[in-house]
Amino acid sequence: MSLYCGTVCRRKSFWCYRLLSTYVNKTRYLFELKEDDEACRKARQAGVFYLFHDLAPLLQTSGRQYLVPRLSRAELERLLGKFGQDSQRIEDSVLIGCSNEREAWFALDLGLSSASSIHKPEVEAELGGSFISLRRAVSQLSSMDSSLLFTARALLRWHDGHQFCSKSGQPTKKNVAGSKRVCPSNNIIYYPQVKVWKRPSGEKLQKRWAWKWKTYSTPRPSTGPFPIARS
Ligand SMILES: [Zn+2]
Repeated sequence: MSLYCGTVCRRKSFWCYRLLSTYVNKTRYLFELKEDDEACRKARQAGVFYLFHDLAPLLQTSGRQYLVPRLSRAELERLLGKFGQDSQRIEDSVLIGCSNEREAWFALDLGLSSASSIHKPEVEAELGGSFISLRRAVSQLSSMDSSLLFTARALLRWHDGHQFCSKSGQPTKKNVAGSKRVCPSNNIIYYPQVKVWKRPSGEKLQKRWAWKWKTYSTPRPSTGPFPIARS
């Protein structure tokens, strides 16, 4: 019995260690991508993209659940080309996470920028899905998907609302990952604050999505990295 217990404990601590080291590796990698434009640009070449239109994510129906389709870089470029958009549009995407295997995930909104907005029904027909309001879809999404999509949506919305410097009125420029925006005229740096609170049980998660995030963009010293908080 004690031998069995010992084996179970060792196995358990092995898995705890594996989980922790995976988490640390992922956090480190994400931090690197948020700070290093070149590394992020490289990761974006091999990354995958979640699409939004006016802050509604692209979803596909599968029985009673929604699936969240992801596009490779090549697929996204093909799609943009088909709708007469330059692949430069990918620059607007923001980093939202990564897999254990260091596959970087990005979100891109095809409808927010009114000058180059892509017509929604055409994209939906092309990709075999629909852009559905997240609040409407949340009960039919896995908790991991909904958490990721809510974070992505908040980040996209933050960037949309911080296109201009509140002090100088000049256009701000996003870094590659989208972890900050900089005003070139007075070097003020704006950092998004995106927070997701979720309940531990799936049942309560659906009902009690307490989703809040601060819209303030206090200039912080450029040495102070501020990762996006996700619980
Ligand atoms: Zn400014």
